Amino acid sequence: MADKKLRFNSKVIHGGQEPDKAYGAVMPPIYQTSTYAQSSPGSHKGYEYSRSANPTRSALEKALASIENGNHGLAFASGLAAIDAVLKLMVPGDEVISTADLYGGSYRLFKRVFENYGIVFHFVDMAETSGILKCLNKNTKLIWVETPTNPMMNIIDIKAISEEAKRENVLLAVDNTFATPYLQTPLDLGADIVMHSATKYLGGHSDVVLGALVVNDQELAKKLYFIQNASGAVAGPMDSFLVLRGIKTLHVRMQRHCENGEAIAKYLNDHPKVEQVYWPGFENHPNHHIAKVQMNGFGGMISFIPKGSNYTDAIKIVESLKVFTLAESLGGVESLAGHPASMTHASIPKEEREKSGIVDALIRLSVGIEDIEDLIEDLSQALE
Ligand SMILES: *Cc1c(COP(=O)(O)O)cnc(C)c1O
Repeated sequence: MADKKLRFNSKVIHGGQEPDKAYGAVMPPIYQTSTYAQSSPGSHKGYEYSRSANPTRSALEKALASIENGNHGLAFASGLAAIDAVLKLMVPGDEVISTADLYGGSYRLFKRVFENYGIVFHFVDMAETSGILKCLNKNTKLIWVETPTNPMMNIIDIKAISEEAKRENVLLAVDNTFATPYLQTPLDLGADIVMHSATKYLGGHSDVVLGALVVNDQELAKKLYFIQNASGAVAGPMDSFLVLRGIKTLHVRMQRHCENGEAIAKYLNDHPKVEQVYWPGFENHPNHHIAKVQMNGFGGMISFIPKGSNYTDAIKIVESLKVFTLAESLGGVESLAGHPASMTHASIPKEEREKSGIVDALIRLSVGIEDIEDLIEDLSQALE
């Protein structure tokens, strides 16, 4: 199929997909098998062992590549397994420059696992490109960007950073979990690798854990495929099926996430008991002008600080929400609330956390696609 010609809303449904060859099944079957019959040794129909490749996973990998405007997709057992594969491109002595306020699990993987293997990490504020330039040296091999950042919703200029990365011959990877390709396609902005926790918006229904990488370059794809197969943290067929199914409604879900997100951001911003709201759609957001150019909308992720609140007050607020579920994760159809200091970002030391603005009273919302009135009424009673 000539995917590259399709528009986004068609690609989420048809990208990389064709009816199954055996019976014409429109949805790729769940090939729940570890191995494949061979007619003579080495003679098979393209699949020999499901760690190396599986038809359901291949269908998902093609769909992922299609929606991210890339050439090669790779599906992993989780988002962190996908990040782990990228980090395995590094050798001892290599240096990585990463966004300062990034997903807590990514931070933990960098600091607590890969640092032990002699990889050096710098965590910098990337709101200005100058933050990166200060750390660049001949050992820098990878720049790791998350935008919007989690949970502070900072916006990083992917194109500006990709220009620096290209000049220095450094790989640029972008964690596109928050924005999804509905809102931004980092490969088009010059990134080398796009990463997803498909557990979130791509899956979209809080029923699966899966990770993804998409690249354009054939050589880079080969290296990552080698690591995927050699390390073995692959996505299973059932999970691949669930994410494929989720992707088919990504555009309609994201549209509603954006609408509800905007309504809630504005509601909170006007609320007398709210101190500060972090959402890239506000004109006074420091990098709103970049978000406007780089993204097709502002998403449904919002963080806020209730006025005069401490750790315990914030916990009380999230506990009294009834429509929002208090839970880790984000990007599902249902609205979730979280308390970063005690949940997603508890693995980051308090001083480090607070340097990036993740104060004890910060609350993070993943706005779902329910009726907006119910969500606002819920926030209203919790803030009372
Ligand atoms: C959840 C998440 C991850 C990790 O993905 P898992 O699927 O949980 O392993 C990485 N980055 C971001 C931004 C996330 O939200």
